[in-house]
Formats: sequence, structure tokens, C-alpha cells
Amino acid sequence: MSSQYYKNAAIIYNPVAGQRNVRNGMQQTIGRLAFVGWRTALYETTIEIGAEELTRRAIAEGAEIVVAAGGDGTINAVINGMDVRQNPHVTLGVLPIGTANVWAREVGITSFPQLTGDFKSAADTLINGVPMLADLGQAGNRYFLLWAGIGLDALITQEVHFDLKRWAGGLAFAEAGVRTGLRYTGARVRVKLDDEVIENDTWFIAISNIRLYAHIPLAKNADITDGLLDVHLFAGNTPPQYLKHMAGVLLGTHTQDPDVVYRQCQQISIEADPALPVHVDAEPIGLTPMKFSVLPQSLRVLVPREFIEN
Ligand SMILES: [Mg+2]
Repeated sequence: MSSQYYKNAAIIYNPVAGQRNVRNGMQQTIGRLAFVGWRTALYETTIEIGAEELTRRAIAEGAEIVVAAGGDGTINAVINGMDVRQNPHVTLGVLPIGTANVWAREVGITSFPQLTGDFKSAADTLINGVPMLADLGQAGNRYFLLWAGIGLDALITQEVHFDLKRWAGGLAFAEAGVRTGLRYTGARVRVKLDDEVIENDTWFIAISNIRLYAHIPLAKNADITDGLLDVHLFAGNTPPQYLKHMAGVLLGTHTQDPDVVYRQCQQISIEADPALPVHVDAEPIGLTPMKFSVLPQSLRVLVPREFIEN
């Protein structure tokens, strides 16, 4: 099978977020794509114009594929700019050069040019990628590709210090998790999961479209094409319960814990007292109450062939 051919490609790129020589890397990438016939325009974000707005502009200017050059936050901005309801024909590509590249790890992308300087391999990953139709989540009026998090993890997302995140990755989240968790008391929630209503105290709720949560396979049964979101509600409101849940997730034993409610569903609504913060793909988007849903197989995205075959 030959790889996809895109006459008009756009790369969305934040020139200040990169670590080293990323600007040169962009030119190498564009050169490699040109070698196989992709005509690629580079869209650089500025203070005034972010990745979401640039994506809209790129599609209006004829882009058939929009490559998010960055991490999960850039991917989230691009999918929100893609507006799959209006532009179902546009494909998402990913060049993982962000601080958090969970999507790339989920689908088995192995080329991280920020670490190696090898942008040619990263371009080849795009060239050899195959398109799939992935489910997309919706939280309020925002789309997500990875997950929505409600409660503690949304607080942690706000707490992680950028420099620490850069150097320590997952450890920074663990550190922020412990520091934030020990002074956090959760909320009383009323959660509607399709037709089922659950009332409970909770530390956090994860609504997963993919298996990984940060670097941990939290939603082990998640399938990104089944039209269902995998929901984990971690019950409790005391620090010992919270620490038990943290350990359970890290050890993978949370799936047997009676204090973890697990469902697969299409529609979720969450009310909380006090209101809880919500993030999608690690980007804070507001507070509960909020509704969540899934758009089955609605996002065209390039992934390594092995991801589809497995
Ligand atoms: Mg699913």
C-alpha cells in the first residue's frame, strides 16, 4: 500500500515553545515532505494568533492535512480549529515536539526529533502514516482527543511548573499530584452516565478516549474507534483514599478497586458541589457543571500503520 499523498499541507508551529533548533527542523521537515510531493506551508503562532485560529486559516487556504508540530496542547488547539463537523475531509498529522507527547506515545510514534534532532525521520513518520477515523470527545463546546479530567487532575494540570515539567516529565505530575492532593478535599458529585445516575464524593473523574493517561495506561479497555468514552470515577474525600487511588493507578490495580466506578458510555453530565475544574488534553477549560459526549469516528488522523494493525 502506498502512503497518502497531500498536495496541500500546513504545519502549525509555535516558534517559542521549541527546545533547540526547532526552526531549522521545520525547514528540514518541509524539505523532506516536498521531496515526496507535499506542498507545505508553515504557520507560526504569535502572541496574537494561536494554533486554533491558524488552523482555521490554513483550512480556508486549502490545507488538506494540518500537522500539529508540538505537544498535546497544540494537538488540542488544532483539532478545535479543524471543526470536524464542517471539515470532515481534513486530516490531522502530528510532529511530536512538545513537552507532553501522550498522543504520539499512544499511537506508537517513535520519532521525537526534539530529542534526536532527526526531523527527517519525523517527516517520514508522516509520509508513511495511514489515515484512520478516530472518535473525538466533546466537553462543553471544546473537543478533545485524549481525555477530559474533572477535579484533582485539572488542579494538578494548573499546578505543574513549566520548567519542572520540561525536565522531569511524569515526575513533575506526581510531585504536583501529592502536593495538591494533600490539601484538596474533592466534591460531592452527581454524575449521569448515559441513563444511570451516580451520586458520590470524588477526588477526580477521568473521561478517556485513549488508553494512556499521562504515561499510565489508566483506561486499559479504551478503544478509540468504538464510539464510547471510558469513565473512571475515583470515590472518596480523604487523603488516605486519595493516596490509595494514586497508588492503584500507578500499579494498575485500580480496575479491581470497589471505590473506582468504571463505565463505558456516550453521554456524561457532571454537577459538583463545590464546582470542580475541568481540563481537556491538559488544557484548563472551566468548571462544572458540564456535559460530555463522543463524536464517533469523526476525526481523520494519520497514525503509524502498526497502530491500525494491532
Ligand atoms: Mg472509546
